[in-house]
Amino acid sequence: MATRPKPTTGRAADMTDAEWDAFCARKDAGRAAAHAGQMKAATALQQHPEMIDAFRVFAARMHPYSIGNALRIFGQDPSATRADARFFWGGNDRRIREDAAPVWIYAPKVERTRKEEVTDPKTGQTETVEEHYSTWPVEDVYPASATVPKNGPCIFCGTDEGGTCPPGCAVMQPVAGPIPSRDDVVEVLHKTLKAVGGFDASGLDELDDPFPDGATAPGLTWHTLSVVRPAAKGKGKKDKTRRYRFLHEADLETGRIRYAVAGFGVIWIGPDTYAYGGSDPDTLRVEYGDVRPTSDYRIKNGSMPAPYAPVVYGITLGGYAIVSPEKRTEDSRFWLNVWRVGPYHQGVPDATRDHTAQVVRQLIDHYLTCPERADVEAAHARLHAPKRAAEHADKAAKLRAEMEDLQAKLAAEEAAAAAQSALIGGQQ
Ligand SMILES: [Zn+2]
Repeated sequence: MATRPKPTTGRAADMTDAEWDAFCARKDAGRAAAHAGQMKAATALQQHPEMIDAFRVFAARMHPYSIGNALRIFGQDPSATRADARFFWGGNDRRIREDAAPVWIYAPKVERTRKEEVTDPKTGQTETVEEHYSTWPVEDVYPASATVPKNGPCIFCGTDEGGTCPPGCAVMQPVAGPIPSRDDVVEVLHKTLKAVGGFDASGLDELDDPFPDGATAPGLTWHTLSVVRPAAKGKGKKDKTRRYRFLHEADLETGRIRYAVAGFGVIWIGPDTYAYGGSDPDTLRVEYGDVRPTSDYRIKNGSMPAPYAPVVYGITLGGYAIVSPEKRTEDSRFWLNVWRVGPYHQGVPDATRDHTAQVVRQLIDHYLTCPERADVEAAHARLHAPKRAAEHADKAAKLRAEMEDLQAKLAAEEAAAAAQSALIGGQQ
């Protein structure tokens, strides 16, 4: 018999009594750790009120977690640059290191109804009683430093699967976020320390607030894109949305942008070299995987997977596609060619193509509006300028030769015309 009533629905329903007891014990320990962390952080800030502004930056980086949760995280791991749930990291191609200690926070309030069979001790009759209750569940989150790359090397720094990303890796960087006001932090501290008389904010009065309203803590800004994954037909299930976080890096050597999409792979987007002088000079080249100028030709033509090649529904993408960007918003799915790695250009199943097209469409949206675009296109044009200059000079030389030829022909025709005119003049 479990020590605590076990829910009859959800994940817990499938647990054995021993598993349920272990689950409860772990959550109880987590709740205690969250509370202790909060008290520890609040007490430290009471002792050193001058640290509050530094804590506000910490809380900004923990956004969208609440100030209370930022306190709990700070009390348990003040070195955390950012923290997130296990499933979040999993979706970003990272796993939690086995020896990593969880950091406990309070999750949003949950309202539940519990049905219980109750036996009346007097009558001996059993009846079903409904009980409404709300809980503040505790959840374990993990700082970036507790995670390692999975499913391959880190897309952002190249660290091997299972290895330790260096502090310079984008994943380890603090994230930019809104700095909470001093008043809001003091309010939470006051509630936290209520049992011991509240928070004494008088020490703060002489300290100038270094952050104006609406200030943002410095850090990386991740872009997000979302992909709708249609539910299987006829099963009454809803479509699901999968969100990806990505970073972009302009390569001014080759004039392209590298998009590293966590949990997806690398996509390069840049001008299509061969569109120059053509009917649609705005076409773009989209490459599946980390295709560098030095890459093996088999990688470039898609017969071998590039490093960090996207894998969508189990299918590894390769090669490249030439895209007319204005067609990306068309209702057609055929604006983008999606190829699987293989000896020839091989198509992919509809689900893979649709998923990839949604990702690429949003990356092109970003490409077309990002401030780096002008520099990237100028760099691309510069890169190809020597070859293009030579081609134009070659064509000009041919035209010059043709022109000299024509000039000679023209002179001959004019001379002949003059000679004929002279004959006419002689008759008169
Ligand atoms: Zn890394």
